[in-house]
Amino acid sequence: MMKTIKFNEPFLAGNELKYLKDVFRQDHFYGNGKYTRLCAEFIRKKLSVENVLITDSCTSALEIAALLMRETGQEQEIILPSYTFSSTASAFARAGFKLVFAEIDPKTMMMDVRDVREKFTQNTAAVVVVHYGGYCAEVNEFRALCDANEVYLVEDAAQAFNCFLNNKALGTIGDFGCFSFHETKNVHAGLSGALIIKDNSFVNRATYIWERGTNRQDVLKGLANKYSWVEIGGSFYPTELQTAFLYAQLEALERNIEERKVIYDEYKIGLAPLKLAGVVYYPEFHVDYKSNYHAFFVVFNSESKADQVREFLRARNVHAYIGYIPLHSSPVGLKMGYEINSLPITEKYSKRVLRLPLHNKLTLTQVAGIVDLIKGCI
Ligand SMILES: *Cc1c(COP(=O)(O)O)cnc(C)c1O
Repeated sequence: MMKTIKFNEPFLAGNELKYLKDVFRQDHFYGNGKYTRLCAEFIRKKLSVENVLITDSCTSALEIAALLMRETGQEQEIILPSYTFSSTASAFARAGFKLVFAEIDPKTMMMDVRDVREKFTQNTAAVVVVHYGGYCAEVNEFRALCDANEVYLVEDAAQAFNCFLNNKALGTIGDFGCFSFHETKNVHAGLSGALIIKDNSFVNRATYIWERGTNRQDVLKGLANKYSWVEIGGSFYPTELQTAFLYAQLEALERNIEERKVIYDEYKIGLAPLKLAGVVYYPEFHVDYKSNYHAFFVVFNSESKADQVREFLRARNVHAYIGYIPLHSSPVGLKMGYEINSLPITEKYSKRVLRLPLHNKLTLTQVAGIVDLIKGCI
């Protein structure tokens, strides 16, 4: 019997404790201090962007984006995939947007541009695109579509930190880009995230919302002499303890990705015969694209085969996952009036996905063992 292979193990860079100790020396814990600034500066340089807010999660980054776009009293719709994590939808539903779920393209498991185009109405205010598993959604096509219709584009780039399409970072193509530094992502702080804001005119409001709705920033900069309540905000930033941890992780970003690439390639080469035989499918990277190798997933040619392999692996202590459960047919989605058959492609293909273990503690021998188990089970 194999030793348990977990789906994910949190990455550790090495300098986390050193920087945490420095936070104790600084005697400043609550956030928006030295390490929050260092993380923001790192991301600014790395992704060549101007406006970065470090948040306590990707969920919070999405919530800030939603609050910035919301015009009270107006009917506003957002188009998003059903095949995503609950946060992508919750953030906009809570702010008062009507959710319009779009289909995925089964070749990528990401949102289908044609279906989105058909779902535009005069109330469409934004499109939220999700980059799944280290792959890149058709973000340039969505950008063009949003520009033509004068609506916002939001990138849920939770899984896509440090991915580049034609040398442009994912998360910086939309009007807003949201990253996650949850421990299940490549680099993390337990929980944390970041919001990228393209339009400078949003930055002040975003900062107020980020900081509990106050203009405390302006007081610190000497622009106001006492602070007031200026926005309906939240407590959206992380503590210095989190950002000190995160900064150590960011410094190890390239090593994190190199290690993951080796594992990704081992899966890809090992499972190529099954792809050739048409049993599984996995997308390939475009030549102009640089991935962060966040995940390796396969789509089986039937739901029963996906279940069979998942259970076979589970019985041998290998934890592989199904991926997302569609949102339109979830309890909340059904309450919103969706039916299971509203999005047949999403419903069908989501049941065929298997996400394989991928983390930096995985050895190539283990990966080869997983590949052999899958081949042996088919
Ligand atoms: C992980 C994830 C989130 C949530 O990120 P948090 O940092 O945990 O809030 C949102 N969207 C997608 C696509 C994710 O993968």
